[in-house]
Amino acid sequence: MVSLWDTNIQFLQGVGPRRSRELEKDLNITTFEDLIRHYPFRYIDRTRFYAINEIDPGLAYIQIRGVVRDMKIVGAGPRKQRLVVILSDPTGTIELVFFKGIRWIKDKIKLNTEYIVFGKPTLFNARINLVHPDMDIPDDQSLRGSAGLQAVYSSTESLRDKGFTQKVFSRLIAQVLTRMEGQIHETLPAYLLNQLKLMPLPLALEEIHFPKNLKNLQAAQTRLKFEELFYIQLGLLKQRSVRLRAEDGLPFLKIGKAFNECFKRLPFELTEAQKRVIREIRSDLRSGRQMNRLLQGDVGSGKTLVALLSALIAIDNGYQACMMAPTEILANQHYNTISKFLKGQDVRVGLLTGSTKPAERKLLHESLQDGSLHLLIGTHALIEDTVTFQNLGFVVIDEQHRFGVEQRARLWKKTDGSPPHIMVMTATPIPRTLAMTLYGDLDVSVIDQLPPGRKPVRTIHYPASRRGTVYSFMKKQIKEGRQVYIVYPLIRESEKLDYENLETGYQDVAMAFPAPLYSVAVVHGQQKPEDKAFDMEMFVKGQAQILIATSVIEVGVDVPNATVMVIESAERFGLSQLHQLRGRVGRGAAESYCILMTGKALSKEARERLKLMCETNNGFEIAEADMRLRGPGDLEGTAQSGLVFDLHIANLAKDGQILEWARMEADKVLDEDPLLELGKNKVLVRQLEVLGNRRADYSKIS
Ligand code: ADP
Ligand code: MG
Repeated sequence: MVSLWDTNIQFLQGVGPRRSRELEKDLNITTFEDLIRHYPFRYIDRTRFYAINEIDPGLAYIQIRGVVRDMKIVGAGPRKQRLVVILSDPTGTIELVFFKGIRWIKDKIKLNTEYIVFGKPTLFNARINLVHPDMDIPDDQSLRGSAGLQAVYSSTESLRDKGFTQKVFSRLIAQVLTRMEGQIHETLPAYLLNQLKLMPLPLALEEIHFPKNLKNLQAAQTRLKFEELFYIQLGLLKQRSVRLRAEDGLPFLKIGKAFNECFKRLPFELTEAQKRVIREIRSDLRSGRQMNRLLQGDVGSGKTLVALLSALIAIDNGYQACMMAPTEILANQHYNTISKFLKGQDVRVGLLTGSTKPAERKLLHESLQDGSLHLLIGTHALIEDTVTFQNLGFVVIDEQHRFGVEQRARLWKKTDGSPPHIMVMTATPIPRTLAMTLYGDLDVSVIDQLPPGRKPVRTIHYPASRRGTVYSFMKKQIKEGRQVYIVYPLIRESEKLDYENLETGYQDVAMAFPAPLYSVAVVHGQQKPEDKAFDMEMFVKGQAQILIATSVIEVGVDVPNATVMVIESAERFGLSQLHQLRGRVGRGAAESYCILMTGKALSKEARERLKLMCETNNGFEIAEADMRLRGPGDLEGTAQSGLVFDLHIANLAKDGQILEWARMEADKVLDEDPLLELGKNKVLVRQLEVLGNRRADYSKIS
């Protein structure tokens, strides 16, 4: 069904093919609907006028009222020319400066006439001026709404240069709203609007662009944000409800020898959080429905053990389990830790990675097929087609963000009968709102407690000029028998550059820590797997006191004797990544340190990040801050998550409450009508379809 919404904007008065191409290129706006959904990013109180002598360059957009006293074109040569307009009010005089379209603008501006001028003050040649401001003659009635709150639209420099002022946006949107009058269809069911007291769509769209007052604006924002988040949640929860109905889960009713023996022999008591999470998993596993659970927990919170105990439940019920890690180093490490936990038990554990020899591989394959191997640990190699299980019942995926949705799906298919239970573990704590959006179709467990006796890692920020101090500190720690990590950033664009970076660093370190007094291991992406494994082993076994690495060690490596983490060019890492790296130390009983080294001048944001790192050890706090600073779109994991973020108005960092509300309402709707078959919910089905199609289109593009 083609609706007016889909009309191309080139059919608007004042647009045409050329301008519509520009809007498409810069802002991805092609249809009426796109234009209407180009919501203002903020509003200005147009009842507030600044006096010229109040203006300072720190202000955001402001409005002044004054008379044009003079106009002149200054500067020589077509590219250097600018139009300077002198505006004055009773308190002073200010210059308005135009660089583009100056002749055209000069013709339109009338001397000795009063204008309302709207723009952002900037400092130029030690003088405050407004560059390319919007100018209106007072009582110009061409705009909708009362003059109170004025929408501000995001735009680009090149659009502004081509004359797409804020006023032009407002006019185009007003035009669309007029043409669409009476034809904007409500996208939420009437009963929900009534129950939840939400503003109807046509009114909300009018008010979001041309608010009559603050109260209406807030109601419009709430309505539109709610709708946006509601449909995401409804889609996710519906998927979940469909899956739960379609797929029987393997019922693991008993707890047996494998679990009990391992549990009995643990050298420590489980934390309350670990116990709670195991209970949650346990109840999933016996429910007869397929488990899809996300396990979140800060680094060092003991997720591996929870995963192992859960896998043992599957094994006790006669099924096989596998655990997939993102790197070979990690797979090896899991294999070693888990083998230790299972020592003396008759649970057979195998390891399959890229470096497993063909002969060994063949044996593994056979024992998987005949069911004699109980638990397989490995890397991507696990999802290769040749690997088949006799009866895979439980899958653990460690450090989720490295695996795409696609890859996860391939594991599902490794068995003929019911799909295995899936547990995804991530040590990158993500804010609750983001988890609800990214993994909204999964159940979430959180281990929010560290094993007792852990001391928080002391974090200190040093400029590179203090490297001498840092080296002496390292020597002191090494003398006490401790080990040290030194990490260099990994620049995706150039592995070669990374390597050089690390290589210079290595030479520097090797000089300061000479053999045979010290032994330094190196691990980076360009090494052969054998070399990598060799150096890693040296460090793990304590034969090397220093490990130099790129951020490959970020995830999961566990060397309790390492107490110092030095991060070079720390400003180049994101907050979550820094937190991950820091989690490599502080695993033993000794006091641990994280030293953030930074190079030259730091941006304000980088400084904030480093400061926060020095202030807190709480991963969830850091994740929240990361989202605030960078926005949810840039957070690790979101890009690969397979869920296209396309929020027009809601903001996961700020609209947590509306999100919770939307999820609760979506839940209620599905509780009453799990497959959305009721007449009153027709509009929900249609809208999910529309949004789903749109998402599919986007994913094809990117
Ligand atoms: P994560 O994977 O969550 O970062 P790990 O599972 O690697 O954390 O656990 C970190 C360390 O803590 C491991 O050495 C593990 O054996 C140990 N550990 C796990 N649970 C406990 C506990 N309840 N008490 C003491 N130590 C624990
Ligand atoms: Mg781990």
